[in-house]
Amino acid sequence: MARNGSQRTGEKYSGHQHKSSTKGNFHLNEDFLVFSFKVTPCNKKYSHDWASCPCSHVGERATRRDPKRYHYLPVACEHAKQRQECPAGDKCPHAHNLFEYWLHPMRFRTEMCMFRSKCDRPVCFFAHSRQELRPLEAGLPPTELPMSATINVQTI
Ligand SMILES: [Zn+2]
Ligand SMILES: [Zn+2]
Ligand SMILES: [Zn+2]
Repeated sequence: MARNGSQRTGEKYSGHQHKSSTKGNFHLNEDFLVFSFKVTPCNKKYSHDWASCPCSHVGERATRRDPKRYHYLPVACEHAKQRQECPAGDKCPHAHNLFEYWLHPMRFRTEMCMFRSKCDRPVCFFAHSRQELRPLEAGLPPTELPMSATINVQTI
């Protein structure tokens, strides 16, 4: 089965590590990344590599709650930060993993990618030009790097 796909997902998309990979080039536009990536349930019936599939899978830790249906903020959930299961579950008003955090419509591409135009990540949470850069809404706390570091290793 594709269970071990969830482990690889975290490595491949981790926000602050650069791994060059030619696999899984999705050519995804911004709307798809923000509203569908790892939100839409996968309908493939066969075993496949979850990390290179843009859909969500049962048991995959990268799976996101649909930002249009669930009203959570791109702010790290205290329970997720401690790697504990959140008692509020889907009703929690905060992000439970790196993907819910960075792909959230209010957080996506609000910071510059350190690789700029040389970035070859198939899915990158950051902006590659001034045109791509989006303003961070007033009232949102700035990026919490400790959260992404924790999540990279353990939660996804
Ligand atoms: Zn899939
Ligand atoms: Zn929570
Ligand atoms: Zn990038």
